[in-house]
Amino acid sequence: MKVTFYSAQPYDERFFEEGRLEGFADTPFELIYQRVALSQQTTALAEGSDAVCVFVNDVLDEGVLEALADMGVKAIVLRCAGFNNIDLDAAERLGFFVARVPAYSPEAVAEHALALAMTLNRHTHRAFNRVREGNFALDGLLGMTLQGKTVGIVGTGRIGLATARIFKGLGCRVLGSDPFPAEAFADLGEIVTVDALLSQSDIVSLHCPLLEATHHLINDASLARMKPGAMLINTSRGALIDTRAVIEALKSRQLGALGIDVYEQESGLFFQDHSSEIIDDDVFSRLMTFPNVLVTGHQGFFTAEALREIAQVTLNNLLCLTRGVPCDNALMQGNADSR
Ligand code: NAD
Repeated sequence: MKVTFYSAQPYDERFFEEGRLEGFADTPFELIYQRVALSQQTTALAEGSDAVCVFVNDVLDEGVLEALADMGVKAIVLRCAGFNNIDLDAAERLGFFVARVPAYSPEAVAEHALALAMTLNRHTHRAFNRVREGNFALDGLLGMTLQGKTVGIVGTGRIGLATARIFKGLGCRVLGSDPFPAEAFADLGEIVTVDALLSQSDIVSLHCPLLEATHHLINDASLARMKPGAMLINTSRGALIDTRAVIEALKSRQLGALGIDVYEQESGLFFQDHSSEIIDDDVFSRLMTFPNVLVTGHQGFFTAEALREIAQVTLNNLLCLTRGVPCDNALMQGNADSR
């Protein structure tokens, strides 16, 4: 089976090659690693492939899927949990097998949410630079003691639960909001409406998927309902937040701090080195001017444990396809032969 990887970084290649040797040595996978992202312009790279392996910012709209189907590609395997970048209706119509990695070390992302919150709260990003320049003044580095503060978790799935456990461990009061709350959340905190969560939380951390219903969940109106000076953390998907509204809320001091690992327009920026270029995105550039904003480039998942799991689960998803057995991680089992 020939599989073309898009958006493949050296670390993807390393963990997939190691994973292949560990558990799939007898399976005839031919893995081709392409650095470029999948888009209408790059579909031709998958010529002759049975499957494409994609990541969060690859584009799988109807046009791309039709081009892949015309080339004989039968399967799409996502190296991630979220699948908002794929037109599922078109994929189903074209008979694709589509599988993902539903969970890979949810703790890795939860721990990154904590890292963002801790850094912003105690200003360690500023202290790092100050001390290196011989400036030991504390002015501007004042934080709050997290014990006893209220943390709101929007989305109580795998990552939300892991985040709730961490904050509960710090002695915080934990609130959750979710249309389908996890039973396990009952041991960690209280489920409330999203409005109650926003108005009571000192830190709001987003862990719900990007859906039509959650697009710009954080907007002018919801920001106005937040506790003045509260912190907002987003390690889920960029478009949960209306970035322009957040900038206004930071300017008015309604929002006290912003920590994001994901950004609405991240696809042209993240996972690449643009340090020698001029960044054209004025919204992103404005965000960079705030001392109380911390942005990381979608690295929440980036631990050795998670990368190992992503490779193992993805290779196993492909193995199910080659063996013709149902795949537990499939969003659709596919019927490409009927094309
Ligand atoms: P999950 O499916 O286990 O949980 C998502 C939860 O969100 C579910 O309980 C669901 O009921 C809830 N939800 C749905 N709509 C909601 C709404 N309107 N309001 C509140 N909750 C709602 O998913 P997960 O594994 O916990 O992942 C959460 C998200 O994290 C993913 O969708 C993905 O976008 C993101 N993610 C980011 C990274 C990263 O590196 N930053 C890595 C993995 C996943």
